[in-house]
Amino acid sequence: MHVSAGPDSATGFSHYNQAKFLAHDDSLFTEHYMSMRLETSNQTLYIVPNPQSDTFCRVRTMCWTKETDDLTREMYNKFFEEIDEINLDPVHVEIDNVTLQVRAKAIYSMIDGKAANAIVGNRNTHGCPLCPPYYGINKMIGPSFFHSRLNAVEWLMRNAAKKAVPGNPAQTHPEVRKEARSQADELEQYFNMNINRPKIGGCGSSNNGNMARKLLENSEQFASTLNINAGLVKNLKIISSLALSSRKLKSGKVKELWAILSKQIFDEFPFIKKLPPCIHKYSHLAEFVDKLPYTMNFVDEQSGERCHKRHKFSRPHLSRKTSAEDNLMDMMREALTWSDPKMSYLAYQSYRAKIEKKCDIEMIEYFDQEKEEIKLTNNYGYTESDKNSGSDENDSSDSESEDNLSDDEDSDSI
Ligand SMILES: [Zn+2]
Repeated sequence: MHVSAGPDSATGFSHYNQAKFLAHDDSLFTEHYMSMRLETSNQTLYIVPNPQSDTFCRVRTMCWTKETDDLTREMYNKFFEEIDEINLDPVHVEIDNVTLQVRAKAIYSMIDGKAANAIVGNRNTHGCPLCPPYYGINKMIGPSFFHSRLNAVEWLMRNAAKKAVPGNPAQTHPEVRKEARSQADELEQYFNMNINRPKIGGCGSSNNGNMARKLLENSEQFASTLNINAGLVKNLKIISSLALSSRKLKSGKVKELWAILSKQIFDEFPFIKKLPPCIHKYSHLAEFVDKLPYTMNFVDEQSGERCHKRHKFSRPHLSRKTSAEDNLMDMMREALTWSDPKMSYLAYQSYRAKIEKKCDIEMIEYFDQEKEEIKLTNNYGYTESDKNSGSDENDSSDSESEDNLSDDEDSDSI
């Protein structure tokens, strides 16, 4: 059995006035896990149908506490201790008079960059937990590519503004800020969405994964507004989609793509001395493609992230308020109900019937598959025939490739 797991914390839960809840509910720290694949020595018995979905993601632990490095490390160690125990003393399951001895292979991939740094002991947030001396890839931690797309797009916007001001002063310089706002205003007009605005309530930014995906989808417009190399933006779009892809990739081609992209970035922004982790991380993509026995969508962190949306709903709507324990117990119960394997599978089958697997024409050369198998789309996720038949916008976004659906944070995924 191949399993993945990882902790994540979330804030912004409904606050209650009762004293017994106060001081408990600032931050919910949960550890999730997922059974990815069950295989015998010569046969695959089960593969999770959608590893990026919250419905196949089970809760392991749940507590009201802040995420700390010590706690993350403790969870990581406990998880792998349990995996070692299972391998020393395998679980026996009998099905149709056949006894299966189940051992476990695990990867701690449902983590973000912060948790990855905590596990390897990297205190420098500009450093990479996968590179020497930390070698996170050997510690079986995941690459956490899910957030990289947004972070990389924000980084591009900041540096495009810096590049536009003579002398390339710091990003806090008033001229650079002014330029960044004017570029964002122009993008807002063209893409018809908020860019670099404070969230309602004043805390955090309006930018999210959907915004980043939409900006990259129309890479030429995005690049011309920022006045940067369109090829760079296009390659960033391709590599960020490959990193979350549900298709088998050619590691050699991915390596070539990274070499071109990193050169384009340094050429475009000569004042950059070192790439930030969100972009540098893509240099490890080819390594993961070679090392992992499954596709990249199995090791991104979004299933755990999506679970938090469920917890945020189940707390005010489905959980008792009789005590802090009852409250958490009900949230746990809800989480285990929605991720019940049979129910999840049924829901998935009815949803799956509506989806066709399609991909972007620019990405074919990176897929380790016969070309005939892949249904093509243009850059906007619909096929030419969809367009001609007049399917409305919702239909076409429903039938986007899994790779595009994957970080649709606002979509109610199954
Ligand atoms: Zn690295």
